[in-house]
Amino acid sequence: MEDCLFCKIIAGDIPSSKVYEDDLCYAFNDIDPQAPTHFLVIPKQHIQSVAAVDASNSAVVAHCFEVIAKIAKERGMDSFRVVSNIGEQAGQSVFHLHFHVLSGRDMTWPPG
Ligand code: C5P
Repeated sequence: MEDCLFCKIIAGDIPSSKVYEDDLCYAFNDIDPQAPTHFLVIPKQHIQSVAAVDASNSAVVAHCFEVIAKIAKERGMDSFRVVSNIGEQAGQSVFHLHFHVLSGRDMTWPPG
C-alpha cells in the first residue's frame, strides 16, 4: 500500500533493524523499545489490523504467530508478551497489522 509506513519498511524504502524475514512476514526491532526485547512481527500483505482478519488472510496471521514462537524459542525467551493494538483509542499508530513482542522485564496487568 502506497502510503503505509510498514509497507515501505518491507520494501526497504525506510530502514529497519531486521530480526527475521520470509515470504509471508517480516520482523524488526521497534524503533522505540518498551522492554529490553521489543520487536514487531508484521505480515507482508497489507492488513489494517486484527479487525480486518478474515478467512482470506488468516493463514498469514497464523504464520506470524509461528514466527513469533520460532524466534522466541531460538532466543530462549520463556516469558514474553504479544500485543496488537486495534484503533487509535487502543494505541494503534501504524495501520498495518503488527504484533509487538516484548520481553526481558517484569510486566504489569492490565496494560495501561
Ligand atoms: O501499536 P502501534 O501502532 O502504536 O505500534 C507502532 C510501533 O511502530 C511503535 O511501537 C513504533 O515505535 C514502531 N515504529 C517503528 N519504526 C518506525 C515507526 C514506528 O518501529 N519507523
